[in-house]
Amino acid sequence: MSFSGQTAAQIQAAFQSGKATAEQVLDDHLAAIKSRNEELNAFLEVDEQGARFAAAEVDRKRAAGEPLGRLAGLPIALKDNMCVKGWTTSCSSRMLESFRPPYQAHVIDRLLAEDAVLIGRTNLDEFAMGSSCENSAFGPTRNPWDSNVTPGGSSGGSAVAVAAGMAPLALGSDTGGSIRQPAGYCGVVGMKPTYGRVSRYGLVAFASSLDQIGPFAHTIEDAALLLSVIAGHDQRDSTSVDAPFPEVRDWDRPLEGLRVGIVPEHYGDGIDSEVSDAVHKAIDAYRSLGASISEVHLPHSKYCVAAYYIIAPSEASSNLARYDGVHYGHRAKSFSNMIDMFEASRGEGFGDEVKRRIMIGTYALSSGYYDAYYLKAQKVRKLIADDYRAAFESVDVVLSPTAPTAAFRIGELVNDPLQMYLNDIYTIGANLAGIPGVSVPCGFTSAGLPIGLQLFASAYNEETLLRAAHQYQQATEWHTRRPEPVSGR
Ligand code: GLN
Repeated sequence: MSFSGQTAAQIQAAFQSGKATAEQVLDDHLAAIKSRNEELNAFLEVDEQGARFAAAEVDRKRAAGEPLGRLAGLPIALKDNMCVKGWTTSCSSRMLESFRPPYQAHVIDRLLAEDAVLIGRTNLDEFAMGSSCENSAFGPTRNPWDSNVTPGGSSGGSAVAVAAGMAPLALGSDTGGSIRQPAGYCGVVGMKPTYGRVSRYGLVAFASSLDQIGPFAHTIEDAALLLSVIAGHDQRDSTSVDAPFPEVRDWDRPLEGLRVGIVPEHYGDGIDSEVSDAVHKAIDAYRSLGASISEVHLPHSKYCVAAYYIIAPSEASSNLARYDGVHYGHRAKSFSNMIDMFEASRGEGFGDEVKRRIMIGTYALSSGYYDAYYLKAQKVRKLIADDYRAAFESVDVVLSPTAPTAAFRIGELVNDPLQMYLNDIYTIGANLAGIPGVSVPCGFTSAGLPIGLQLFASAYNEETLLRAAHQYQQATEWHTRRPEPVSGR
């Protein structure tokens, strides 16, 4: 039997009962990586030596009866936009291809303090800009359920790492859906916490008012464990909140009385009928669990994509100004003067989508256009956040599809950026409003591709969100399916 594909809770139980060592668990995940990573391209680099060292240390501590952290011996995959000391942090960009950060992200400090085994860095859309993991300078990541389709993005590598049994847990970042959408496409759990829950220190910035780090796992309980480790105040990120993360103590308290909102605006044009059917079945499941279902309206949600694709590129154009060939990363070999050096370095270092975002953002922020675009988008953002606030006066959670379709084919949307942006239609609202959202597996299409169900709660209400999503998992078995058994030891 292999530990690859098992949940973190199952692996911990095996540690407890003496049926597994951290080194065995690591071996099984490394074997899964060896057998499938060449095809799937989930990991850009595997730190086999570092991981072996960490696993051996956990086994030594356990044998010596020393106290162990909450993630002891669990292999964790990391999206390659979080700084890890001693690793490269590339953001899947030529610009940072050989960038070695001189410092470490807050979340990494937290993982190490709990004895996690950091297994490697995963592929993403360059600088986290994209919805398919095709915008990577190091080739696309493939979906383990069908290698001709995308895993979603931008945290596609982390989603695939968990889905394909290469790690039981992973971290991603979510600016407009980059954890939840790939989780939905790959049949795993992915969660974006409330903005401010997790420190962004050491996360390479894309759009600072939207970015948030969060977990991937097979189950909500596993995701909650990982989130509880990385959440909490950090004085190095002034937007991180100083509030204790609520432990979910009563996972199985009946959902009787839980008020679930559904949004009629979510089932209009563009949603695939199999996705809509699966989500409606999930709504029925909540009804059977004792929740009361009612309609809520998010009248400004139709402007989410438009507002996001002004705000996110604007912040990106500012954040990415630092990659100038001097401070960081790639510098062109031949240039005639300083301006030429900036232009050539940025021209060579960034891919097409990143350049597109920088141009959109620079335009939207430029004098004469700022009021018409950026300021207007910020006002719309406020209306969108107000819609959610109003909705949460009458319901506890809102249910929606994670994405309008299941995963699309590699190459299908790369030349149609607007269509690609529309894929984010259900995920972006949570980032604009700063609220937590989670995607859980809720079915499969007739072609065998996973479908994601999304739940939202009001800001700082992760406890309700996690409990509601957990009980859905207890009542269904979608999350127990695996794309392909990985060969045992
Ligand atoms: N797909 C969205 C974008 O391209 C979201 C990306 C993200 O959440 N990092 O911007």
